[in-house]
Amino acid sequence: MKVATPRETADAERRVALVPDTATKLVAAGLQVSLQAGAGEAAYLTDAMYEKAGVAIVADAASLLRDADAVLKVQPPNLAEVHLLQKGAVLISFLQPATQGDIVRALAVQGVTAFSLELVPRISRAQSMDALSSQASAAGYKAVLMAAERLGKFFPMMMTAAGTVAPARVLVMGAGVAGLQAIATARRLGAVVSAYDVRPAVKEEVKSLGATFVELPLESQEGEGGYAREQSEEFLRKQRELIGEHVVKSDVVITTAAIPGRRAPLLVTGEMVKGMKPGSVVVDLAAESGGNVELTKPGQEIDVDGVLIMGTRNVPSTMPLHASQLYARNVANLLLHLVKDGAINLDFQDEITKGACVTHAGEIVSERAKQLLAAAS
Ligand code: NAD
Repeated sequence: MKVATPRETADAERRVALVPDTATKLVAAGLQVSLQAGAGEAAYLTDAMYEKAGVAIVADAASLLRDADAVLKVQPPNLAEVHLLQKGAVLISFLQPATQGDIVRALAVQGVTAFSLELVPRISRAQSMDALSSQASAAGYKAVLMAAERLGKFFPMMMTAAGTVAPARVLVMGAGVAGLQAIATARRLGAVVSAYDVRPAVKEEVKSLGATFVELPLESQEGEGGYAREQSEEFLRKQRELIGEHVVKSDVVITTAAIPGRRAPLLVTGEMVKGMKPGSVVVDLAAESGGNVELTKPGQEIDVDGVLIMGTRNVPSTMPLHASQLYARNVANLLLHLVKDGAINLDFQDEITKGACVTHAGEIVSERAKQLLAAAS
């Protein structure tokens, strides 16, 4: 069975879906592993490192993809890439089924069996394949470093001969995987951290990281599977009224709030940003799914009366080495879950295989993907 990893073609994507360590694991499982020349370069992984791990280096994407039984990617393929895939080939990638309807339909027409990492069920058996979590962790960590680098203040309290400097105040909104990592990172840098989430269940986790949980007199919005449910406009309006005073007191605000498959909720208004002290920094990790901050411009940094709003896209890609390492492990674990005795062996009774599979035998087979496509159209 031939497993291929092409170079990522999306703009500014520096991650790669195969690293030498995971290649070793796949080779040991009896798979023939190949990589497009230079596919790991942007993540500081040279062709020579892959060759040492038993990977064949192929010069061009077309011959690599045409020949592959399984293809590993980070970003969804573009149409040209889809058209190169063999009928019956397996694809494992982030597929963003909510926004990539054309690609999902093209994969079905091409007869590809495509697995979307966004749809891997979040059950304990699938934790080692949970790329949403591994990449959210990278984003939460990096968001704090981005803010610290741009803030004209120290994060920790400093006692110096020239006097004492107060620590920075950081507010993290949304305490899921990215938010908890942001809290831990900001605490390690010595900031005073508070955090807010609509799921009160995270309160103990927030406190155990040394941060204060902001309690607002609002009812819980805990939905299915430990996620937040979609909130009414009335709820969000009340929330904004109550959270405003915490936002304006903060030197750094990091927003990570999301509802699966929906536009990110609006948490921070332009007025709140204008109320913050000049020199403060807002990092909106939800920039790509609509933004938690009213004035965010995805992919841009903007200055609002001296307050910086960072709408950086694809934050995990700015830490390509470790983000790739974790992502590639998630991908290899999912691939090996689908393989038996060196060949693809799909068991659609299995919750992970069924949950993550988007297209198979010419059809869109995932109910979740169908719902997301319908909601987007
Ligand atoms: P996410 O990226 O969908 O959302 C991020 C956070 O935003 C969530 O904590 C959510 O409650 C919060 N949020 C939504 N609307 C908000 C609002 N208006 N104001 C403030 N916060 C808001 O979630 P995620 O980080 O991918 O995961 C969330 C949870 O899912 C985890 O904390 C965990 O309970 C569960 N999970 C389980 C597993 C597993 O069992 N394998 C793995 C990962 C996550």
